[in-house]
Amino acid sequence: MIRKIGILTSGGDAPGMNAAIRSVTRVALNNGIEVVGVRDGYSGLLEKKFEPLTRTSVSDSLSRGGTLLGSARLPEFKEESVQNECMDHMREAGIDALVVIGGDGSYRGAMAMTKKGINCIGLPGTIDNDIPGTDFTIGFDTALQTCVECVDKLRDTSSSHHRCSIVEVMGNHCGDLALYTAISCGAEMVITPETGYDEVEVLERLRYLGEAVHKNHAIVIISEKITDVDMLAKKVSQNTGFSGRATVLGHIQRGGSPTPTDRMLASRMGEKAVDLLIEGIGGQCVGIIDNQITSMPIDEALNRPRTSRKPLYRLFDRLV
Ligand code: ADP
Repeated sequence: MIRKIGILTSGGDAPGMNAAIRSVTRVALNNGIEVVGVRDGYSGLLEKKFEPLTRTSVSDSLSRGGTLLGSARLPEFKEESVQNECMDHMREAGIDALVVIGGDGSYRGAMAMTKKGINCIGLPGTIDNDIPGTDFTIGFDTALQTCVECVDKLRDTSSSHHRCSIVEVMGNHCGDLALYTAISCGAEMVITPETGYDEVEVLERLRYLGEAVHKNHAIVIISEKITDVDMLAKKVSQNTGFSGRATVLGHIQRGGSPTPTDRMLASRMGEKAVDLLIEGIGGQCVGIIDNQITSMPIDEALNRPRTSRKPLYRLFDRLV
């Protein structure tokens, strides 16, 4: 039987993390389980940054982006001696189970501690949608909304000036944010790790759109870490007949009030995490697959291929 659950947020922050913290806290308290908030990710375990969470500690948090517990990276947490110290601190504080909201790095930490004897459950929190074991992560929908709002605005100004807007979005080696933005905004091109990148082809395609299709503007959505978008914009201006302009959306994508979809997802996932811990299950991560809240062993999730987006790339091609 568990009496006290710890909760922490680790890795990059994402809108909706607060809704997950709130859900874990309220569901646990309503089951007679105490809750301890751990500040600043795994470094809070090392530095004993523990604070009891009550119903009111998580009031007014649903609409706030970021994470009220703070997040951090602690590379030393990969070392067994550091993990052992953290385990001792949790035992001293009476924490007998832990919910970790973060990405696959954070999941590995959760798995290590479960193996050492404290059940941990991982919840996927990132705007990048790059965590295995789930179709969607907490924060992705909010970031998508931000991207769509920005691109819609850029389209208004691009169409007045025979311009090609190249918009770089986040995703950390995952093209979902770019793909969903491109479909939602009716972009002319999408470039992601999944599509691959061939500069000559991109320039040819844009020249074709301008000259043969007589488009007076074009939007290209490109994932981060693919190419220098300012250089690409220069080449577009030199080679295609469009005036190329690059916009890097950057950290604006990480902020903002979470969408209802993210609040719902986080609330449902938080509930599932507590239910698993009550059942005595650890070492699992929660996901949403085909709109069902699911869970699977972290080891299995980390070895699974991500959900294929091939049908959506095909849809994009058919909509252009
Ligand atoms: P994310 O969780 O978003 O993938 P990181 O990869 O930066 O972000 O991981 C967040 C934290 O998780 C790291 O700072 C570290 O404390 C912990 N972590 C990452 N990888 C491991 C690992 N292999 N074993 C144990 N802990 C890890």
